[in-house]
Amino acid sequence: MKTEYIILKETNLNNNCPECYSTDGMVLSFKQKRLKSKLMIKTKGNIIEGIACNKCENQIFPGQWTKDIERVYDYHKKTISAKRSTMRFTALFYVLFFLILLLAVGGYIYINNPELLGLKP
Ligand SMILES: [Zn+2]
Repeated sequence: MKTEYIILKETNLNNNCPECYSTDGMVLSFKQKRLKSKLMIKTKGNIIEGIACNKCENQIFPGQWTKDIERVYDYHKKTISAKRSTMRFTALFYVLFFLILLLAVGGYIYINNPELLGLKP
């Protein structure tokens, strides 16, 4: 399975980074995880949120957040809406499904009514 992230929102923060004190390096992001395999795609309902600093390349964990960061975070959190948790099948799944169905139906007809296929026993 391949993991992808759907970015719901990504915002640059101009707060001071608690690690390097830069004011233009932090990015707040809200993401959702999507798992992809050849046959299905599953979207997780929970939101993965985080702040990373591009200047010092640190992940800024909630314990390090200042009051200002928390305020900005709360503000942005209200503006996002998560996608529902879903699972859907890919086109390949349906192709395989119908192929199997076709073979099953074909096999059934062949065994029970071979004359329908023009095959007289
Ligand atoms: Zn930093």
